[in-house]
Amino acid sequence: MDEAKTAANTHVPSSSFAKEIEAEPGGEDIAKCIQCGMCTASCMVASVTDKYRPRKLIQMILLGLREEVLSSDLPWLCMTCRMCEERCQEDVNLAEIFHAVREIAAREGHIPPAFKNAIDVVLKDGWMLEDAYSDFIEDDRDDLGLDTELSWNKKFVAKLKKKYFKGESTK
Ligand code: SF4
Ligand code: SF4
Repeated sequence: MDEAKTAANTHVPSSSFAKEIEAEPGGEDIAKCIQCGMCTASCMVASVTDKYRPRKLIQMILLGLREEVLSSDLPWLCMTCRMCEERCQEDVNLAEIFHAVREIAAREGHIPPAFKNAIDVVLKDGWMLEDAYSDFIEDDRDDLGLDTELSWNKKFVAKLKKKYFKGESTK
């Protein structure tokens, strides 16, 4: 019997994937979850899509569904608003746990296309919303005494690309 089925049958939250997440920075609290569901009831992402259920995602990790979790877009849907953490009676740090999951997923090449595109846009334009930089914002910046010309530090970006993307597009 595989590990997920064994864990599901015995209800023991001690899969090797849960231990792997526990060992990753941010994932330390995962075994504290008692599956009460308060996080899902508090989550604004869960309130707009049935697809996303933080309690269930934690459960999948506890049960050892490694490939299913890492290849899924779900851990990337957390907005890190931390409302769930405010209400979790066990002090489970869900946003950090999902960061830890994303770290492992990214290392193994599982990054949803929308996030890869976002990285490419930032590396190319310097920020996500270049097109949204309007005269209105320029006037606001001027009023606040800020530089109205946004400059892009090409040297810094080159270093960043070299360190994290080997100078290539993330695509
Ligand atoms: S609120 Fe906390 S204890 Fe309850 S299911 Fe969510 S993470 Fe687990
Ligand atoms: S931190 Fe993530 S899981 Fe928690 S309420 Fe916010 S979006 Fe939902």
